[in-house]
Amino acid sequence: MKVTKAELVISAVSQKQYPAVSMPEIALAGRSNVGKSSFINKIINRKALARTSSKPGKTQTLNFYNINDVLHFVDVPGYGYAKVSKKERESWGKMMEEYFSTREQLKATALIVDIRHEPTNDDVAMYEFLKHFDIPVIIIATKLDKIKKSQVSKHVKRVKETLEIKPEDQVIPFSAETAQGKEEAWKAIQSFL
Ligand code: GDP
Repeated sequence: MKVTKAELVISAVSQKQYPAVSMPEIALAGRSNVGKSSFINKIINRKALARTSSKPGKTQTLNFYNINDVLHFVDVPGYGYAKVSKKERESWGKMMEEYFSTREQLKATALIVDIRHEPTNDDVAMYEFLKHFDIPVIIIATKLDKIKKSQVSKHVKRVKETLEIKPEDQVIPFSAETAQGKEEAWKAIQSFL
């Protein structure tokens, strides 16, 4: 998809703030600092539309981006940041549950993981959470430029095995540095629109 429009519509903290339109949505989830903002910015050809990770202390929000008036990307706050208070963790959980359990416009979630490492327990929990709500998941294994070509299939296999991914979900190796995997990511996203 050639992106000609990419605008932040709203940073929502609760359901009543979600855009009241029927445009399909693709959510983006991932561990803090995994490269989620870089993924979003790369696939929409913007330098810094999606802000880099929400650090503790900042309000955690669901950021709705209008892409070409065709879909919304919904950037959800990163997880797995160690220095988050119990209260912040609870409000994160409540916000996630409220969105993922009820949002009819949500067609699929791109779950960003680091191709170099075995998915963390938090990654596994996030994947299981999404599957619990029967949400299709596109796993984006980012930072592809950081591993040797000869190691890619081994790393992809490990991601699949650790997450115990369902046959209907796919893993797409991706790099925000080189834009490798960008076409494949768009193809996967568009298959849900
Ligand atoms: P977020 O917290 O998940 O939004 O992560 P960011 O997008 O801010 O990325 C975290 C760090 O990883 C930054 O220093 C990025 O430059 C770096 N990064 C993100 N994606 C890639 C990638 O594909 N390749 C490389 N080499 N670095 C990346």
